[in-house]
Amino acid sequence: MREFAYSRAGDLEEAGRLAEEQGSRFIAGGTNLLDLMKLEVEAPKTLVDVSRLPLTEISPTEDGGLRIGAMVTNADLAADATVRRDYPVLSRALLAGASAQLRNKATTGGNLLQRTRCYYFYETSAPCNKRNPGSGCAALDGFNRIHAILGASDQCIATHPSDMAVAMLALDATVETRLPDGGSRTIALKNFHRLPGQTPEVESNLQPGELITNVVLPPPPKGSHIYRKVRDRASYAFALVSVAAIVAVENGRIASARLAFGGLAHKPWRDRAVEDALIGQEPSQALFEEAADLLLKGATGHGHNDFKIPLARRTMIAVLTEATQEAAQ
Ligand SMILES: Cc1cc2nc3c(=O)[nH]c(=O)nc-3n(C[C@H](O)[C@H](O)[C@H](O)COP(=O)(O)OP(=O)(O)OC[C@H]3O[C@@H](n4cnc5c(N)ncnc54)[C@H](O)[C@@H]3O)c2cc1C
Ligand code: SF4
Repeated sequence: MREFAYSRAGDLEEAGRLAEEQGSRFIAGGTNLLDLMKLEVEAPKTLVDVSRLPLTEISPTEDGGLRIGAMVTNADLAADATVRRDYPVLSRALLAGASAQLRNKATTGGNLLQRTRCYYFYETSAPCNKRNPGSGCAALDGFNRIHAILGASDQCIATHPSDMAVAMLALDATVETRLPDGGSRTIALKNFHRLPGQTPEVESNLQPGELITNVVLPPPPKGSHIYRKVRDRASYAFALVSVAAIVAVENGRIASARLAFGGLAHKPWRDRAVEDALIGQEPSQALFEEAADLLLKGATGHGHNDFKIPLARRTMIAVLTEATQEAAQ
């Protein structure tokens, strides 16, 4: 591990001021950043500890939604009574992620910005455009079992590893931030993460030194909430494919459908055309198959991960079957 300086921010202003130092990085739970520093994948000059900032509240918004402080831990968020009652898809996604010990440290802000689990990103002797822009991508011709089948580029085929973000995307969450100059802004989660394109090293639309302060959920959507994660082990493993679904059925027809996917792309994936194809229709196997075809029409495997295409199809159909049956009851 390289040497680094450490400062703990006492308030938001101090966090902003410290973040202006060149080569500085925020650290919250440290469960991802510290691992990357130990491997020298990342080598910040200064760590700005934001874990003591007063961003630990989960509070109702005026319109009936929920504001979640960026320092709320994954464990506290999953256990929150309002989240469990009104946003069960989020609670389930959080509990499907990592281990109890990690969830006690991992934070809402840090979870959104955790970095890919691509093996070659962690292997500093391998070419990797994300870690070392312009060096190539070892995964393209390498072992790419966990890699993307949608939205990838010739520069990077990595996936985003967060479970929480998939559920938040289905919930139409927005991210509130504080800019280093003291200003603030709101970014819809669907616009927060980026596809790799020609710059896979740029993973979100945050500016340098911009601090996530809160995530805001709109009022809870009606319907059946499901999070299904397919992985190699029953726990402590990242998603090969995951689906967050919120589906309502009225008078025998699908009244609303929100579907977000993990494990398939460089960012949590949502395709409105797929949802539109479901809305207003009677649930049936044929309809679900058509919707899955639509989702996967542009999917490309890279050899070892070809299996993800039929796996995503089957998982989506199974989730829709379960959600519509549950929602109809
Ligand atoms: C063994 C293992 C298994 C795991 N399994 C899963 C899993 O199945 N599913 C899953 O979703 N996750 C999993 N994780 C990942 C874990 O959820 C993340 O490491 C964690 O959520 C990151 O949060 P953190 O607070 O520790 O972030 P940190 O490590 O502190 O920071 C991560 C990044 O976010 C930035 N950052 C942190 N807070 C802010 C902020 N407020 N504003 C701006 N930038 C910020 C940091 O600068 C850094 O770049 C696993 C991790 C491990 C080690
Ligand atoms: S897939 Fe992306 S993260 Fe993995 S080696 Fe290629 S460029 Fe690096």
